[in-house]
Amino acid sequence: MSHATSLPIVVWFRDDLRVSDHPALTAAAATTAPVIAVYDLDEESPGLRPLGGAARWWLAGSLRALARDLRARGVILVLRRGPAARVIPDLVAETGAVEIVWNRRHDPAAAAVDEAVADALTARGIGVATFQASLLTEPDQLRTKAGGPFGVFTPFWRALLARPAPRAPLPAPTAMQGFDGVGSERLEDWRLEPTVPDWAAGLRAEWTPGETGAQDRLARFLDAGLAGYATLRDRPDRTNTSRLSPHLRFGEISPFQVWDAAMLARDTRRGGATAADIDKFLSELAWREFSYHLLAHTPDLATRNYQARFDAFPWRSDPDGLRAWQRGRTGYPIVDAGMRELWTTGWMHNRVRMVVASFLAKHLLIDWREGERWFWDTLVDADPANNAASWQWVAGSGADAAPYFRIFNPVLQGEKFDPDGAYVKQWLPALRGLPAKLVHRPFEATPDELRRAGVALGDTYPRPLVDHRAARERALAALAETRTS
Ligand SMILES: Cc1cc2nc3c(=O)[nH]c(=O)nc-3n(C[C@H](O)[C@H](O)[C@H](O)COP(=O)(O)OP(=O)(O)OC[C@H]3O[C@@H](n4cnc5c(N)ncnc54)[C@H](O)[C@@H]3O)c2cc1C
Repeated sequence: MSHATSLPIVVWFRDDLRVSDHPALTAAAATTAPVIAVYDLDEESPGLRPLGGAARWWLAGSLRALARDLRARGVILVLRRGPAARVIPDLVAETGAVEIVWNRRHDPAAAAVDEAVADALTARGIGVATFQASLLTEPDQLRTKAGGPFGVFTPFWRALLARPAPRAPLPAPTAMQGFDGVGSERLEDWRLEPTVPDWAAGLRAEWTPGETGAQDRLARFLDAGLAGYATLRDRPDRTNTSRLSPHLRFGEISPFQVWDAAMLARDTRRGGATAADIDKFLSELAWREFSYHLLAHTPDLATRNYQARFDAFPWRSDPDGLRAWQRGRTGYPIVDAGMRELWTTGWMHNRVRMVVASFLAKHLLIDWREGERWFWDTLVDADPANNAASWQWVAGSGADAAPYFRIFNPVLQGEKFDPDGAYVKQWLPALRGLPAKLVHRPFEATPDELRRAGVALGDTYPRPLVDHRAARERALAALAETRTS
């Protein structure tokens, strides 16, 4: 990279909305050239999936935070909108920049856009440098012994651990030289946040998008959540998971930073976490890596069964069932609580995600892609790799998928992982009067018990949409059909 030049260098921000551990920004700062930071809202390039509503809300907050953090270092964040293959070369031409840097993306559609932009700029003599920042191990760095991509998590995880330890995170550049005179669109004009109706109050109450919010969340987790993670991470009534997922999704924190902080916590015994807690947490981070590995090698993971035999699966068309599931009105409290948590906060606990996804795909026999789409629109952490891979995993059609005969019993799942019903009662106030032994099975309460709890089934809380046993038999029959087809 050239040095001591007065011609500007462009840093193209994408899913890496932070200033620390940002190798592209660090490289630009090291040149001493004036720095132009740009974010391009690209909803037009072929194959790029537009963000859902909750993620758009998040993006607005994240860009505001990034603009603030860059401004404090002397750099303006330039906002542009349109297909990157036009917008980025235009910006380079307009500013007379001779170099551009960015951190690599691994969603194949986004990677294809990046490649086209790099080719166009290189052909014009612009220097292009790209960096590893968003994954500990990029998809092509890990191969099975036979040379192919991994399709099973455990050997993938072992291979990841066998590689050299992840690099140490980079500090944020201090002051940089900015570049004046380049126009920016206004964030408000992008209308990323809802106005009428403003459904984002629950999101605002729960989250602080941006790098500072991410670092605060990590610190809180290390102090008061990581200890016990190995055993309590499945409990939605506890706060033992990090809630870093939207921050990781938008790259407000890097996996290198999370890894490093967890390893340091191991050495210092911060918060009282054990080695088992830390190993488990790091392995979950590796599931994110695995999802990206799968997506990189299976670009249509969100739309096509990973296992082709599922193409013959007899999905049902059931718009009423789908709507009841989306609204949290299935009559199974753990499912409904999860769907209300999602609707209100844009997030749902992992165990509950598994239960609600299983309920949709197996109890209702509704195509997992319907669920994937709903999550895409409502999750603040909606992620092209994690969402698609996880939905396929639960439906049984995915890589290293749950065995086809595993059909979660929503009552038993609730009783096991929310034993006092605290989680259910938080999201379903109508059930607050029920004792713990009935809160996951209100339909088994006697009329007297219901009356005492102030619950009117079919009125204040729905009756079950399907009978668990019958739904289970139906799902097993459908799955057996697929198995032999
Ligand atoms: C049906 C379904 C859909 C999902 N959709 C998404 C999604 O769109 N975006 C998303 O980030 N995660 C998704 N997940 C995975 C998981 O539920 C979330 O990553 C996790 O709940 C986030 O909470 P946390 O940050 O507190 O996780 P922690 O337990 O603190 O884990 C730390 C980080 O590891 C990663 N991680 C943890 N569990 C998984 C997992 N099972 N698969 C992949 N990465 C994982 C996440 O980046 C997470 O932030 C989905 C899971 C299911 C079952």
